[in-house]
Amino acid sequence: MTDVGEVTGAGSVRDQRRAAAALVAAGLRAGDRLLVSAAASPALLAVVLGALRTGVVPVVLDPALPAAERAALAEDADPSLDVGAHPERLLGGTDEAELADVPLARPMHYTSGTTGRRKGVWSGVLAEQDASALAAEEIELWGFGPGDRHLVLSPLHHSAPLRFAVHTLLAGGTVLLPGPFAVGRAAEAVSTLRPTTTFCVPTHLRRLLGHGEVDWSSFRRLVHAGAPCPAPLKRSVLDALPDGSVWEFYGSTEAQFTVCSPEDWLARPGSVGRARPGRRLETDDRGQLWCAVPPWARFEYWRSPEKTAAAWRGDLVTVGDLGRVDDDGVVWLDGRREDLVISGGVNVYPAEVEAVLDAHPGVVESAVFGVPDEDWGERVVAAYVGTARPAELSAWARERLAPAKRPKALHPLGELPRTSTGKVRRLDLPQVLERGSP
Ligand code: ATP
Repeated sequence: MTDVGEVTGAGSVRDQRRAAAALVAAGLRAGDRLLVSAAASPALLAVVLGALRTGVVPVVLDPALPAAERAALAEDADPSLDVGAHPERLLGGTDEAELADVPLARPMHYTSGTTGRRKGVWSGVLAEQDASALAAEEIELWGFGPGDRHLVLSPLHHSAPLRFAVHTLLAGGTVLLPGPFAVGRAAEAVSTLRPTTTFCVPTHLRRLLGHGEVDWSSFRRLVHAGAPCPAPLKRSVLDALPDGSVWEFYGSTEAQFTVCSPEDWLARPGSVGRARPGRRLETDDRGQLWCAVPPWARFEYWRSPEKTAAAWRGDLVTVGDLGRVDDDGVVWLDGRREDLVISGGVNVYPAEVEAVLDAHPGVVESAVFGVPDEDWGERVVAAYVGTARPAELSAWARERLAPAKRPKALHPLGELPRTSTGKVRRLDLPQVLERGSP
């Protein structure tokens, strides 16, 4: 395969030193923000790691953001230096700088904005023991080591993809950068670069499996997260990949909560695993999940003390997901607080209604949301992709759902509106339905 960026230990560390020296020379100190909006490249990774290992906080923005959105996030992040699309400009000088063994800061990321405005997630500068614990956790959890070839399939401005790449490099492994996701190229990368690990979202998996011939045999860990993975898709992935290699976790830009081994998933299809070591999950009386996290996994919403205060209760934090923890300590997600529809006083979880609609043979996928209604308070509306006729699907729902949960309108669509991480943007559905396409 041509044009694959490959980053390994020694070369990268030299560039990390160059980046650190350039940041110090530019007057940046621990806690200052460095803004980069560049696609994945060896230079981007070296600059991110060089910054983190001196305590500077990199803020990596999607290079494809519309100018106005980029400008708004750049203003919000208040960086001391903005290298825009050119991280390589920091790599020209001396490589004499001192680097800490582990990241002294965490990158600042913006959430995907699935449920509203993007929020900056900030963890400040870490104490030494927290910095070591942070690096050790994921290296241990995924078993990263010098033999790893980590394939980057997702954009590095998202938190999990960047974390996986950074930790592979810290553990002495190699990071493979085949470029932005395009299914043909990704399939070729999987089949020919002999990757041992990757992180991806369910949309990537659906596209790769749909593509046909892919040689998955080199994987020891494929980890997915970020959006619900429908059970039939998960089963196909488990069938296609080497035994024991398909792992999942439930987490967000803010923090990571669970880990789900293939055995755990097969024993309880549809669950998202158990609390990670050092964490504890529980549900409050409104069905909201809370997680006790270790000190080094704490975070704030950048310059938003009210949002931060609403998310924390002592050492427990919530990102607004609804779900439950069963007697065996296994976590099940019901959806997000913001997506809950309250119709005729009944709590309607879109995921429950979507599961019923998706089970219809003429439905590929569906998305359920609420619209204001004088009579019901909110009424349930569904959009779906598939060949089923609305009247037929309505009859199907009538047989299987209580009145408050039945969609009062059903709209076929060519495709559902999604974020770049593959999550359905329910917020956009009313406008999409008006326009007729995403
Ligand atoms: P915003 O908070 O701005 O609306 P966002 O929450 O979509 O954006 P992310 O941090 O990318 O931004 O997404 C995290 C969310 O993704 C989690 O809160 C959860 O709802 C969902 N999620 C993560 N992992 C899984 C998983 N394994 N299964 C199902 N859903 C998941």
